[in-house]
Amino acid sequence: MSTTNTPSPAPSYPAQVTGMDILVRALKMVGIDTMYGLVGIPVTELAYLAQARGIRFVGFRHEQQAGMAAATHGFLTKTPGVLLTVSSLGFMNGLTATTNATVNCYPMIQISGSSVREPIDLDQGTYEGLDQLNVAKPLVKAAYRVNKPEDIPTAVVRAYRAAISGRPGGVYLDVTTPCLGAIMNAADADKLFYEPVDLCPAMPPAPDAVKRAAQLLAGAKKPAIIIGKGAAYARVEGLLKQLVETYNVPYFPMSMGKGVLPDNGPLSALSCRSTIMEEADVVILAGARLNWLLSRGHGKWSPDTKFIQFDIDAEEIDCNRPIAAPVVGDLESSLTAFLAEMSKLKTAADPAWVPGLQAETKTKNAKFEARLTANAAVQPMDHWTALGAIKPVMAANPDVILVNEGANTLDDTRDTLDMALPRHRIDCATWAIMGMGMGSAIGAAVATGKSVVAIEGDSAFGFSGMDFSTACRFNLPLTVVIFNNGGIYNGVGVNMSGDGDPAPTTLDVRARYDKMGDAFGATTYYVTTPQELTQALTEAIASKKTCLIDVQLGADSGKESGHIGYLNPAALETIKV
Ligand code: ADP
Ligand code: MG
Repeated sequence: MSTTNTPSPAPSYPAQVTGMDILVRALKMVGIDTMYGLVGIPVTELAYLAQARGIRFVGFRHEQQAGMAAATHGFLTKTPGVLLTVSSLGFMNGLTATTNATVNCYPMIQISGSSVREPIDLDQGTYEGLDQLNVAKPLVKAAYRVNKPEDIPTAVVRAYRAAISGRPGGVYLDVTTPCLGAIMNAADADKLFYEPVDLCPAMPPAPDAVKRAAQLLAGAKKPAIIIGKGAAYARVEGLLKQLVETYNVPYFPMSMGKGVLPDNGPLSALSCRSTIMEEADVVILAGARLNWLLSRGHGKWSPDTKFIQFDIDAEEIDCNRPIAAPVVGDLESSLTAFLAEMSKLKTAADPAWVPGLQAETKTKNAKFEARLTANAAVQPMDHWTALGAIKPVMAANPDVILVNEGANTLDDTRDTLDMALPRHRIDCATWAIMGMGMGSAIGAAVATGKSVVAIEGDSAFGFSGMDFSTACRFNLPLTVVIFNNGGIYNGVGVNMSGDGDPAPTTLDVRARYDKMGDAFGATTYYVTTPQELTQALTEAIASKKTCLIDVQLGADSGKESGHIGYLNPAALETIKV
């Protein structure tokens, strides 16, 4: 007798998802489409999953640079950039960038895997064990830990809102290894998701505050406006244009406020900083803080200057100087209300104020141009020779985003290159830090799809140079221009001990950075004359490829600390052996 073996039906289990699935879906739920990071235990599969589900993953060689990219992404898109790091050292490397983002008011979220809690809380030691949440807390705008997969969507929405609301900043989101690996029924997980309403609500100012500010400006004889990177971030160039043109208000841009209104427009007072600080009677601060960059070595305000401050953060008001008319709210709402109020008032500006500034601008700019021309023949090139060669190329390519860091390379480039468009200059910003170059350049290229030129001192490039290879792997239209003067500040430092070691500021003026670029398949140039530099940069930008130009400067070009030597506790000349 034969029996038929009918297979018993396969047991049916409910479909399951992991914490990582939920995290990726939660990020997509709030609109995240790009992630910067560096993988390893416990986040490798998370990155693969994100990539598979349509979130672009840009993998770096150092977490700090991935973080600089995420921060720049946040600044340029007005949505949080996302950084993914591994536990302990990876987390800490990334935290530098998240902290820098917080100082600069850039929205970003650092998501880091972390160890199981128990051995951390009992201090027993474990693989890459660190109490990351508590390390991050004092350095970021907000920090959260998520321990259960059920909490992930809430945690992501909270992190997003914290990064973007009020004054933007860096947020830390700690996700434990057990949470990433935890398993849930898919049907239960589905119920966790929802459409968050109004992720970045408008914050209109109080009408009385707007009225007070408008009355102050209307009565001003010599008004001026300082445009900071908060205005660049807030995308209020249209409203600012209307304000300055309707009321004939000269503007002075802070470094990353350059281009919000054109640097060489008729009302630009870019070359008249001291005159504004000494003579303006009413100064509007639009997304700019009255911090160290607007005091001490950077000029001295007249004691009679009255300020109108537009800022989203009420705590910023009065923090260094009394503010006569604070307007707390988001810049778009505030400027809209302010313009409406201004239209009801008569103004009283001194008709000689703007023509006076325009005359001063003309004289100063002519002097500056004469210096560039005079330096055109200097050999080996100095910073001005090189910048004179770069200036016409950048002017012909106004939509290229400029990333800039260094000491003299930063200061002299800022002074030389006019910006015509908003959010096209990204630099060391409020902390004046070195080591933001490759990350910011990559973030700018990825976030906008535009071409980027990074002008880097040789010392500055050293902090992030390895991540030039990331730009190469992702085929980004980035040209890195390295001003090689062989040192921090310059390459002529002297070791006073005579033991033959390099001086503390000495690097290598003969280093061939272009050969580093060759290693990763970039198009590279080594240039020693301004003509070669002009041609190389023109070609490089037009190619839309990843390029590196090693610009050979003389070792004696550049001075200690560039424009901020006054911050050193003593001058080098006072050191006695
Ligand atoms: P800068 O260095 O260019 O002077 P800061 O970073 O010092 O600029 O200042 C930027 C200011 O802009 C911060 O005080 C921040 O609170 C403010 N800010 C940022 N975003 C907005 C916004 N959307 N509306 C109003 N103010 C903003
Ligand atoms: Mg140097």
